[in-house]
Amino acid sequence: MPMPRPNLKARAVEVNQRLSHAYPDARVELDFTNPFELLIATILAAQSTHVRVNIVTKGLFRKYPNAQAFANASQVEMEVDVKQTGFFRNKAKAVIACSKAIVERHGGEVPRTMAELVELPGVGRKTANVVLGNAMNIEAGIIVDTHVTRLSGRLGFTKHADPVDIETDLMKIVPKGEWTKFANRLILHGRRICIARKPDCPNCVLNDICPSAVLIKADPPSPAKSRARTARSATPPSPTPSRTRTSGSPPRRRRSTKG
Ligand code: SF4
Repeated sequence: MPMPRPNLKARAVEVNQRLSHAYPDARVELDFTNPFELLIATILAAQSTHVRVNIVTKGLFRKYPNAQAFANASQVEMEVDVKQTGFFRNKAKAVIACSKAIVERHGGEVPRTMAELVELPGVGRKTANVVLGNAMNIEAGIIVDTHVTRLSGRLGFTKHADPVDIETDLMKIVPKGEWTKFANRLILHGRRICIARKPDCPNCVLNDICPSAVLIKADPPSPAKSRARTARSATPPSPTPSRTRTSGSPPRRRRSTKG
């Protein structure tokens, strides 16, 4: 297995440090009071928002206070209870099946190992890492959700698309002990700054160490700006040297002047 390049490790440490200053209180944004609640909330959060899930789980955890209560629930009633989170038929099925397995195999307690967690219906490595890292303080791996996937690629930490491969790459360069916090910070940064469609590179604290800051194109110019550019191109060229990169010079980082 190839070893990670030292500069990649150093950059991962720097990214983590900067994000720790930007998001000092980063934590999973799902409400929970115990590992079981976080497990159920994480299953419900697929293709939904934490805001929506937190609204739903507020009443849900009152109605079904433990794994046994979830295990005894009827599919039809659970579908109504979780409907607002979307994909409610599959989610209702998953939370009931998962709860039954926890009751039957683990005496109603959420298991504390990755191997046991991923054997539960509806639970993959991502959900297991969320629960282990945030509710049990056990670092078995790194949470890889859609934000961590996107940012890991943009930051040059991985070339992979598969979550397990991405997690393996990250575990080589992020110091253990920081795995959960690193993922929580990356997720917040992905929600607030490095968003999928339009990353806010000019206002990003990672701008000068992110290899994608130069690659992501700015918004297309507005019609007014296009007209201004056309007018400028009609005037004689300025005597100032061109800023175009020559083949031998290092790449210049694009910096927006817009706030
Ligand atoms: S510089 Fe841009 S692409 Fe890189 S992490 Fe920041 S917002 Fe994302």
